Amino acid sequence: MKRALITGITGQDGAYLAEFLLKKGYGVYGTYRRLSTPNFWRLQYLDIFDKVSLIPADLVDSSSLVEAVKTSDPDEVYHLAAQSFVGASFEQPVGAGMVTGLGVTRMLEAIRQVNPEIRFYQAATSEQFGGSSDMPMREEDAFKPASPYAAAKLYGYWLTRIYRGGYKIFACNGILFNHESPLRGLEFVTRKISNGIAKIALGIEKELRLGNLEAKRDWGYAPEYVESMWLMLQQREPDDYVIATGEAHSIKEFAEKAFEIAELDWRDHVKTDKKFFRPLDVNYLQGDSAKAEKKLGWKPKVKFEKLVEIMVNEDMQRWARWQKGERFPWDAPNYPSEDKILSRTLTLERA
Ligand code: NDP
Ligand code: GDP
Repeated sequence: MKRALITGITGQDGAYLAEFLLKKGYGVYGTYRRLSTPNFWRLQYLDIFDKVSLIPADLVDSSSLVEAVKTSDPDEVYHLAAQSFVGASFEQPVGAGMVTGLGVTRMLEAIRQVNPEIRFYQAATSEQFGGSSDMPMREEDAFKPASPYAAAKLYGYWLTRIYRGGYKIFACNGILFNHESPLRGLEFVTRKISNGIAKIALGIEKELRLGNLEAKRDWGYAPEYVESMWLMLQQREPDDYVIATGEAHSIKEFAEKAFEIAELDWRDHVKTDKKFFRPLDVNYLQGDSAKAEKKLGWKPKVKFEKLVEIMVNEDMQRWARWQKGERFPWDAPNYPSEDKILSRTLTLERA
């Protein structure tokens, strides 16, 4: 039986990847970090919590990563753990470097020292292209990161290539464009919208406050994207791949479509709020995954409209179940109102 170690198994992609690898017959191990309150809701929601093995580890602690590799003795490592939210990287720029950037080096070093035969997947990102004007973006296009998050990811991308070239480690970068699902964190704009609409439709809330509505993203469906991670590690040679749908839509279009599904008019409920504008934003991301299609046989099936439908319908059902008194593993009821969250980088006017 093949074994896989997933760092960040408690996150959106970690949970879907664990589900996918279990179906493939893998022994699945995942790292989690110690929190004052357990955070396994995604694994419970997918009903796989009892099927995976958990290993405590933190990306700032090299020794815990070495231990995780020794304990799981994996054939493949999927390095998904990161401080993954662009907004938070402006609030905690040093942490972004230490966790999202240096965490990759710590993981690669653990592999090099314990067993360099292990295959390694690095969760690279379309944010690395940032303000680049090459569109749609391909593997060979220029990177122009526009956030501490993107700069840290670009460092991780290069370390992955350096360990591939220098130590012959089978290390791949998946340059994934945004991918969403009902398991997406509530701070990301798609899930913020689907969750907000569900609450408005059921009379729990009245309005939804958003930032830059003009930015465009190439949004895909997370369960399909994790499949590409596995495909990359099954090839004869390690390489880097763009994973995207090839379509770009604005936040406004997402909101419009999402409100339409709930039979509401977005103009009655959406307000823009300076608080949600970033010091520097990426206005346009659109990927070209022709290489992945040709070499991996990977192609997205769920496109924009279907994705919006999946997310809005699931959040509507969840809130309806909740209102009827049903209790199940889910993040939204515990999420604080964004009014409570104070951030000087995002809320204060600059002189
Ligand atoms: P999530 O935010 O849902 O998950 C991130 C995971 O990293 C969580 O399990 C989190 O643990 C863990 N983590 C955070 N900090 C640490 C730390 N210091 N030590 C150990 N673990 C830590 O992200 P996604 O699942 O959406 O994304 C997976 C990866 O792919 C990330 O690296 C992300 O940056 C990247 N990516 C994502 C894209 C997307 O659209 N989703 C696009 C391109 C790249 P905890 O649950 O305890 O917080
Ligand atoms: P990102 O592409 O990884 O930064 O994913 P996000 O979902 O966080 O943001 C996507 C885009 O939506 C960015 O251009 C944000 O500026 C924009 N956006 C507009 N309003 C909001 C909001 O209220 N929250 C978030 N997270 N993003 C918003």
